[in-house]
Amino acid sequence: MDCIFCQIVSGKIPSDIIYQDEEVIAFRDIKPQAPVHLIIIPRRHVPSLAHLSEADSALVGRMVEVANQLAKGEGLSQNGYRLAINCGEEGGQLVPHLHLHLLGGRRLSDTLG
Ligand code: 5GP
Ligand code: ZN
Repeated sequence: MDCIFCQIVSGKIPSDIIYQDEEVIAFRDIKPQAPVHLIIIPRRHVPSLAHLSEADSALVGRMVEVANQLAKGEGLSQNGYRLAINCGEEGGQLVPHLHLHLLGGRRLSDTLG
């Protein structure tokens, strides 16, 4: 499997992992677009949002829960933050392993695309 994020999960590619449990891991984005830019992913290889089934609802909920906890830990709760998931080519997804971006620490763009 040559998926970059699967290789981060397995430890083959080093990353700044700041949280992990049996379902998800979170690490700092290598090219941060904000003072805080974290990536939250499922350990399991899911290519994109479009590949989720109804049975994955709890997994997505867990990713959001972890993101909220990390946002709190990064001191973002009061001023706010953004969670974003890009899906597919026109959605701006470059890494084909489902991931949630957590962005914060500055006033983010008023537009989403
Ligand atoms: P996408 O455009 O697919 O939604 O976002 C992919 C994100 O993964 C980008 O923000 C990019 O900087 C980040 N990224 C790509 N490769 C690596 C890597 O090897 N390590 C880390 N920590 N982040 C990566
Ligand atoms: Zn993967």
